[in-house]
Amino acid sequence: MAVEQVDPDHTSQRCSHTDCGFTHEDNRNGEQFRCLKCGYEINADYNGAKNVGLRYMRKRQHSLRSSPTSGSADAPVDVRVNGGMLNGDGYRSTAES
Ligand SMILES: [Zn+2]
Repeated sequence: MAVEQVDPDHTSQRCSHTDCGFTHEDNRNGEQFRCLKCGYEINADYNGAKNVGLRYMRKRQHSLRSSPTSGSADAPVDVRVNGGMLNGDGYRSTAES
């Protein structure tokens, strides 16, 4: 995901709802923003301002974290939760018997 480059247009099209971040041109309808993904509704300008604020905060956190001693700051983070790998019930019954 290219998160570094966010132009003003995209900030106004991006859902500022926490944990969503869905970006689509149809999200914005004039002065009103409505996320096509999560249904979040907000004033479009305020939504854009929120995104700029969030971006600023993230950059700040990033610069605070990336100290010379921590080399893993720029490592790509790709966490995938793979549910269904562990069958708790089956494992448990086998262990108890
Ligand atoms: Zn959303």
